[in-house]
Amino acid sequence: MSANNDWRAWTWCPTCQKRGYPSRKAARQVIRQVPGPRMNAYPCERVEGMFHTGHLARAVLAGAVTRHDHYAQAA
Ligand SMILES: [Zn+2]
Repeated sequence: MSANNDWRAWTWCPTCQKRGYPSRKAARQVIRQVPGPRMNAYPCERVEGMFHTGHLARAVLAGAVTRHDHYAQAA
């Protein structure tokens, strides 16, 4: 397995204030470990090559909810 596909290789994203994973595959590894509703893996808006996990990622990306609302619910 490439290091880029290992979720343990995460780094802190200063833009989003959350963990960033080196690939979508790595982010999905984390999602599989979390019980409950499935989260999405999505690319960071600011840091190229970084991926995040979140329940409302698609809504945030679409502008349906604000970034503040997203993190308030994710916390
Ligand atoms: Zn980010």
